[in-house]
This record gives sequence, structure tokens and C-alpha cells, in this order.
Amino acid sequence: MDLRYTDEQEAFRAEVRAWLRAHVPKERLPTVGTREGFDAHRAWEQELGRAGYGALHWPVEYGGRGADVVMTAIFEEEYAIIEGPPRITVLGRNLMGPTLMVHGTPEQKDRWLSRILSADDIWSQGFSEPDAGSDLAGLKTRAVRDGEDFIVDGQKIWTSYGTFSDWIFALVRTDPEAPRHAGITFLAIDMRSPGVEARPLVQVDGRAGFAEVFFTDVRVPATQVIGEVNRGWDVAMATLGFERDAPSAPAGRFERDVAELGSIARALGRDSDAGVRDTIGSLYAQALAYRWHTMRTLTRLARGERIGPEGSVTKVLWSELERDTFAAGRELLGPYGEVLSDEAPQTDPLRWHSKYWFSRAATIYAGTSEIQRNIIAERVLGLPRK
Ligand SMILES: Cc1cc2nc3c(=O)[nH]c(=O)nc-3n(C[C@H](O)[C@H](O)[C@H](O)COP(=O)(O)OP(=O)(O)OC[C@H]3O[C@@H](n4cnc5c(N)ncnc54)[C@H](O)[C@@H]3O)c2cc1C
Repeated sequence: MDLRYTDEQEAFRAEVRAWLRAHVPKERLPTVGTREGFDAHRAWEQELGRAGYGALHWPVEYGGRGADVVMTAIFEEEYAIIEGPPRITVLGRNLMGPTLMVHGTPEQKDRWLSRILSADDIWSQGFSEPDAGSDLAGLKTRAVRDGEDFIVDGQKIWTSYGTFSDWIFALVRTDPEAPRHAGITFLAIDMRSPGVEARPLVQVDGRAGFAEVFFTDVRVPATQVIGEVNRGWDVAMATLGFERDAPSAPAGRFERDVAELGSIARALGRDSDAGVRDTIGSLYAQALAYRWHTMRTLTRLARGERIGPEGSVTKVLWSELERDTFAAGRELLGPYGEVLSDEAPQTDPLRWHSKYWFSRAATIYAGTSEIQRNIIAERVLGLPRK
């Protein structure tokens, strides 16, 4: 494995870095939990799209750059290091778009793909329900055929960006008599349809980044079924495969955060404290180990290999590193981390405060650590089911 970047890749990194430095909003955008904040994030994504950075990994025929996995990872790393605003297009770009490319009809591709890329349509993901999270096939939201339409009733939960999104891709039960995985259909639903109600879920940090979505007699044209009726589980597995294979959580962001922990420790005069040194040293070693792990993954993807269930190793590593890094920051900042004081030394306490709270969710969304460990045990290591 050659760990050096090519001249072309280094040039691309320089181009991305310069563009981001010049264009990333200087002020933090208002939270996506408000209409104003959501629109500000959309406007930023539209700017990214116009500059050709909307969806680097999409094929050129669908408006992307056809960038290889290393280029895409370089962009993501630079974006993470400069802390660009959260990408509200993420579910459209990384999940719905690629799913449409494989399972969509030509009309569906024409209708939605370019609008995902331009950020004119923001998509959310309607998979989880109150009793169907890890056990996704337990979903109960149902859709009944009525002429040219389906009538949808039920509830989704934890729908990221769901309060103001334009569309949702949802799994619905279309054959209650069929075995659990067999009677499910993958539907695209216009969030402005009569009968759709998105209720913001206010989190512990006071923000409302996601919603509960309720469907009451919502009429959805059958032309908005993606793939085949009752075969939605296969489509959903393809969607989750894209999630697993997408280069996520760049290593550079952890190295930067751990370096900042070092600056905070020095500013607080705690850099000679053995416990603090031990924590920061250990986190740094984990961040470096994570970098080598992601290099190995990128090398495999660049060779055209699929990652499959081994993607669960990456998910466990980055989510637990994120959780532990921000927990260490909160511990180190002590009261500064709680009161959002402007006086915290050498850091932005609001950033550490909000990152700490959101990091608590990292080991839950995109599949919990327990579920990932089950996958690693059974499907990577070949251990027997308990
Ligand atoms: C910030 C955030 C954003 C999210 N965004 C979205 C979104 O946009 N769209 C969407 O559809 N969903 C979204 N989710 C939901 C997420 O996918 C679920 O929370 C996740 O799948 C876990 O499901 P659950 O919350 O129902 O927990 P449960 O499945 O009820 O699990 C509860 C606990 O039991 C453990 N557990 C369950 N089954 C097993 C098992 N077999 N073996 C061992 N342990 C087990 C779990 O690991 C967990 O610790 C989001 C969640 C969060 C926190």
C-alpha cells in the first residue's frame, strides 16, 4: 500500500482548501431546526453545487464529477477540518441519489437526481419507527393500494432534517400477510402532501435537528414506488450499503480535535497533569490508528473492492472516538464547557458544548455500536449467533 498522495491529488486538495477558505461562511449559520437556519444551509449547499462540489462521487452523466473515492475523501477531509456547515443534502446525495441510479425508472431519475445535486430538493430518510429501529423489519407504517395511488398511514421517528425537508424516502408495509421482510415497499413521498405532519423533536441542547413524521391518509402516486412493490427490503439494503461504503468521518477531523485538546490543556495549565496527558495521548494514538484504518479502506475501495460488513469496524471506531474525544473535552473544560462562557481559554466553548451533546448520538445513528459488534462477530469473524 502506497500512503502518499499523487501530485494530482495534492493539487486537488489545494484547490478545495483554497475554495473552502474563501467561501465557507465566516459566521456560524443559524440552526437547521428553524426555517431561517434551514434555508441558510440550503443556500450554502446551492453555492457548493454551483461550484461543482455538490456530489463529487456521482457519475458525470448525473451531474457529478465522477470523482474517485480518494478525491471524494480528500474533499470530505478538507470540509471537516475547516468545519463547513452540516450538509443537509447528505441523505439525498449519499443515499437516495445512488439508490435512484440503481433502482429508479428513467422518469424518476429525470425528476429527482438533478434537484438533489442542486440542493433544490432536500431529502430525509423515513426508516426508523417507534418500535422499529435496530429491528427495522418491525416497521408498521402501512400503504394500501387505491387505484393509481397508495394511501399511507403511520409514523416515522428520528427523521434527520425532517422538519423542513421537501421529500422523504420511506419504507412502508404493503403486504401485512407476507413474512416480515417480504411485504415492504420503498416509497418517495412529497413532504407537502396533505396528511403529512412533521413535528420537530427538541434535543437536550435545545435544538431541533430532527422530527417525528406522521402520515394520515397520505395519497402517494404509485409512480413514486422505487423498485418493485413488496420488494422494498432489497432496495433499502442497497441504500444502507451506500451508507456503509461512503467515506465517512475523515481522520483529519479527529487529529485536529485532539490537537485542540492539547492547546486547551496548556492554556489551563494542566498539560503536566499525568491523567490529562494520558487521556490526550491515548486519543491521539486512536486517531492515528483510525487514519491508517481509513487509508486501508480507501485503498481497497480504490481497487474496486466492496467493504461489506467490515464497514461496521469503521463505524464503531469513528463513533466511539468522537464520543470519547468530546467527553474528554468536556471534562477538561469543566465549568467552561457547561456555561458557554466566552472566557474559555483558547477555544470556542459553544463548539465543544454542542459537539459534546451531539457526539452522544454517534454510537446510535447509522446503526448502534451493539448492532455493529453483532455484525462484526457474526459476519466478519464468523462467530456463532448467541
Ligand atoms: C441523531 C440521530 C439521527 C437519526 N436520523 C435518522 C434518520 O434520518 N432516519 C431514520 O430512519 N432513522 C434515524 N435515526 C434512528 C436510528 O437509526 C436509530 O436510533 C437506531 O437504528 C437505533 O434504533 P432505536 O433508537 O429504535 O433503538 P433500539 O433498536 O430500540 O435499541 C435500543 C438499545 O438496544 C440495543 N439492541 C437492540 N437490538 C439489539 C440486538 N439484537 N443485540 C444487541 N443489542 C441490541 C441497541 O444497540 C440499543 O443500545 C437517527 C438516530 C439518531 C440518534
